[in-house]
Amino acid sequence: MVFTQPKWVPNVDLETVPDSIPVSYFMLDEKYGRAKLRDSRSPFICGLSGSQYTSSEAKQRVDFLARGLAKELNWAPNKGSEWDKVITIFAHNTLDSVPLSWAVHNLSGISSPANSAYNVSELKHQIKSSGSKTIFTCLSLLETAIKAATTSGIPRKHIYLLSMSYEKQLGYMLPSDIKTVDQLILEGSRLPELEPLQWEKGQAIRQCAFLMYSSGTTGLPKGVQVSHYNVMVNVLQVAAYESPARRPGQTKVVLGLLPQSHIYGIVSICHISIYRGDAVLVLPKFDLPVLAASIEKFKINVLFIVPPIIIQILNNKPFLDRFDLSSVSEVFSGAAPLGVETYRALLKNYPSWYICQGYGMTETTSAVSMTSALDIFPGSSGSLAPGVQARIVSLSDGSDISEYGKAGELLIRAPNVTSLGYLNNEKATVETFGSGKDAWLRTGDEAMFLKNPNGDGNEHLFIIDRIKELIKVNGHQVAPAELEACLISHPLIADAAVIPVPDDAAGEVPKAFVVLALHNRGQFFQNHSEFIEEIHDYVKQEKAHYKWLKGGIEFVKSIPKSPSGKILRRTLRDYERQKIRQS
Ligand code: AMP
Repeated sequence: MVFTQPKWVPNVDLETVPDSIPVSYFMLDEKYGRAKLRDSRSPFICGLSGSQYTSSEAKQRVDFLARGLAKELNWAPNKGSEWDKVITIFAHNTLDSVPLSWAVHNLSGISSPANSAYNVSELKHQIKSSGSKTIFTCLSLLETAIKAATTSGIPRKHIYLLSMSYEKQLGYMLPSDIKTVDQLILEGSRLPELEPLQWEKGQAIRQCAFLMYSSGTTGLPKGVQVSHYNVMVNVLQVAAYESPARRPGQTKVVLGLLPQSHIYGIVSICHISIYRGDAVLVLPKFDLPVLAASIEKFKINVLFIVPPIIIQILNNKPFLDRFDLSSVSEVFSGAAPLGVETYRALLKNYPSWYICQGYGMTETTSAVSMTSALDIFPGSSGSLAPGVQARIVSLSDGSDISEYGKAGELLIRAPNVTSLGYLNNEKATVETFGSGKDAWLRTGDEAMFLKNPNGDGNEHLFIIDRIKELIKVNGHQVAPAELEACLISHPLIADAAVIPVPDDAAGEVPKAFVVLALHNRGQFFQNHSEFIEEIHDYVKQEKAHYKWLKGGIEFVKSIPKSPSGKILRRTLRDYERQKIRQS
């Protein structure tokens, strides 16, 4: 059975989605879409300094930046392959990061945002995998960026800085030989106009706009090629979905705190909000007092957050009561499951907030489904966006499940599925995206559909569990295979398996089962406490903080594996769940 959008959700006429312009033109040019940038409201506001540009200034900055970049990097809009024009953005959220990506798109290039928590080797991996030869960073991350860039063959002159005035206040010094985006914009303002792009029909479908990193259902992080068309179509899908519940012309201030290196931050928060005409209040990282003060000062209306931030809000209610949060009317939760109890607790504490949940993944350019004020069903991840088709298939034999309330793996077919697949990884692309005309994306999530008894019986998606290897820590992806490879590279460790364990604050955290090399030599002790610290330190040294083994380390005699050598993670997860139930 194929599930689709409910009747009340308007369609998107796919014929009208532009396919021969980049997403930057779509967002910036008045000819396309609702072109809200013509409004006077600022698209981005810095939550720390309050600086902002009017819409026309923002548009001009993109144009000047593209001119400056073209001269600096010797890129021409209509010459060369997009793969010779890849930039890495390794920065905390800034006012200029998304406009920078648009400037690169105006030159027919690709933007590849990297997680700002990455250390040198993680960043190097992404730079090398993406083929990027230029990196944009911010002052507080400059040292890491320089080390990763220079050891990946990127010359120092191709390292640039995004402006973050607050970092200068923190005492970071701006090296005189590193150019800033502001300098590039100034230089660009003195240069002649760029020739407009001459894209062929269908080029927006064939060309990557954002190269995002995701481990998908298995293995190491891979470059997901999100096309220009994918972003435009997803913007239009969400706009259509929301249209029945939204007052025309009403604009809002939305929270832009989640990382702009993640699809949720880039597409759902930045592109969709700006398309609507909303202003994105940019904050570089989560800090509850700063968040509360920003809500009060900038009268934020919509909080785009992840479940761990909701938990923080609930745990700090007395503190938050000192602030005026009355501007908030909506909370949008995504990237990880929002439990019904958490949903109810938030509603009880903030009864005037409308709490919405969305489901999606990098491989679907963000939203596949979301909830609407017109059709509330607590615990649900909403109903399908226009043009999205879904199937539920049996975990044991892959056969279709048609019954409501019966769970299986969720498969998706939709125009927002990133069908260009993973960069340079045909095998993983075919395994995840399928092949041929009848290809369905395997989400690796266990889900079911239920009819909403409160509404008109509309079908709602419920995510039950995750089948794939992925661990989500505060909404960030952690690939078990990456941690296992790291653990096995330690001389003390003969074998390892990593699984998620529940965590009140972060949602999930990684736990490692480790076979010590000592054990292979005939010794096995359960309590090698002297090694535990050493292994923790090793992972801390090698990996970003959200990948650390906060779920603990357990020594085992062997790792359960299938006859073909695949780690039986499910066995370990069941063992762990049973242990938690007994404790
Ligand atoms: P990412 O590619 O980082 O966005 O991760 C996508 C994965 O996050 C999905 O495949 C799910 O496992 C999980 N996820 C995203 N949204 C939800 C949600 N609303 N409920 C449960 N899991 C979610």
